[in-house]
Amino acid sequence: MTNKKQSVGILGAGISGLSAAYKLSQNNINITVYEKDNQVGGAIKTNSKNGWLVEEGPNTLMVKSEAVWDLLRDLNLITSSIEASKTAKKRFIVKNGQPTPLPMSLGSFLTTNLFSVKAKFRLLKEPFISKSNKEDESIADFITRRLGSEPLDYGVNPFVSGIYAGDPKTLSVKHTFEPLWKMEQQHGSLLKGLFKRDRKNDSPKRALLSFKNGNQQLPQTIADNFRKSIQTETNIQSVVKNDNKWIVNGQQNNSAFSEEHDVILSTLPAHLLPTIFEDSIFKPLNSLSYAPLSVVALGFSDEQIGHPLDGFGMLIPEAENRKTLGVLFSSSLFPDRAPESHHLLTCFVGGARNPDLAGISKKGLQDIVLSEISELLNITGKPVFSHFRFWPKTIPQYEVGYDHILNQITEIENLKTGLFIDGNFRGGVSVPDCILSGFETAEKIQTFLNGQ
Ligand SMILES: Cc1cc2nc3c(=O)[nH]c(=O)nc-3n(C[C@H](O)[C@H](O)[C@H](O)COP(=O)(O)OP(=O)(O)OC[C@H]3O[C@@H](n4cnc5c(N)ncnc54)[C@H](O)[C@@H]3O)c2cc1C
Repeated sequence: MTNKKQSVGILGAGISGLSAAYKLSQNNINITVYEKDNQVGGAIKTNSKNGWLVEEGPNTLMVKSEAVWDLLRDLNLITSSIEASKTAKKRFIVKNGQPTPLPMSLGSFLTTNLFSVKAKFRLLKEPFISKSNKEDESIADFITRRLGSEPLDYGVNPFVSGIYAGDPKTLSVKHTFEPLWKMEQQHGSLLKGLFKRDRKNDSPKRALLSFKNGNQQLPQTIADNFRKSIQTETNIQSVVKNDNKWIVNGQQNNSAFSEEHDVILSTLPAHLLPTIFEDSIFKPLNSLSYAPLSVVALGFSDEQIGHPLDGFGMLIPEAENRKTLGVLFSSSLFPDRAPESHHLLTCFVGGARNPDLAGISKKGLQDIVLSEISELLNITGKPVFSHFRFWPKTIPQYEVGYDHILNQITEIENLKTGLFIDGNFRGGVSVPDCILSGFETAEKIQTFLNGQ
């Protein structure tokens, strides 16, 4: 039986920390969540003003596991959730300066001008290319080897920017596009793997979701279950072990504070851990890089936009030599993101492709984005609304050799009894992955406490 007096200190009230806290609090475990910001949610931030609803962080959550559906049901969030409009299935990729629909069927693949005839024939060779015996490989090497260079440039490169703000030449295929990696490992070919795919009828429903009040509604609703256990505006500066207790030190309301716990769960970004834990064993975590990213949300009236905005958005491959990484057609995806007869476009700049650009002035960013998207989407005039957010270090880059980071984290946990480490640098960057990882970590903590 768990001793109720034992306490767990959770560092960070992003979705990873909140998900673990939710499971632990449900099992009557004494938790305290420490958060530097004045609100919960971490990267999940919604800004709402004058009829415009902007997501500064994640815009869409791909829910496909029963555990996440159960969470939404438990939180009574199903009625507040909104599925992305059917038009979201259409995605545009810019090719030769034109937004071109990504083919979603064999027929449209054969006729699309996104790929040359030579590139389409090259795909027929794919089943005959032998599988790699490397332990890991970059996305760029993997895709070029199996499918050729055009699918990398106009198929995969823009998606890598869209999901990871990353560079396919450095990211690990095994850790970012695991299903593709597994298809090669198990079937020797992606095409064979696709045909042999197990299409179970009883798989949980898949849906691309947001919430009526924006995505921050999710962390806020989770946090409502244990509000009294959350200490916001609390900056953790160091964590040390003294006998069997973990001592958390930091600043709260401009004064120093210190509290002790039996267990610590850190969900802080990896690059902070070497400083906070002051131990050389954490140093290798510094080698995990994070891509800086700026979000530029622009609003226009109906008559300013010449494109129907009939899709999820538009991704801009590196080969097109533009600075904007991509644009989400936010008000086409979900209702009530813009006032009547207006449209909201959420644009992304920077990432591993142009890291220095992410941090430039708002005016500089707006000028760059406006000139590029005006040409691509046939927009006239200045935006009637704008909102910006700069994220200096939020999306971890799972690069080739990332196994070393994972092994190091396991080693730290083995050596530091009562310390658990989670966050988007461990179990996947997407919000649903962070939820699942938070749940798993909560289970590990519970098992640890039961054994005490
Ligand atoms: C612009 C952007 C777009 C994205 N788009 C999507 C998307 O469409 N779909 C999707 O699924 N995912 C998306 N993601 C990824 C996803 O949002 C994140 O990976 C996830 O929210 C990270 O959660 P986390 O709890 O692991 O980390 P974080 O959210 O970073 O939480 C860490 C928390 O620790 C706190 N903290 C840091 N230092 C201290 C300290 N010293 N003391 C106390 N607290 C501290 C922080 O304030 C923060 O609240 C996007 C991310 C970004 C930035």
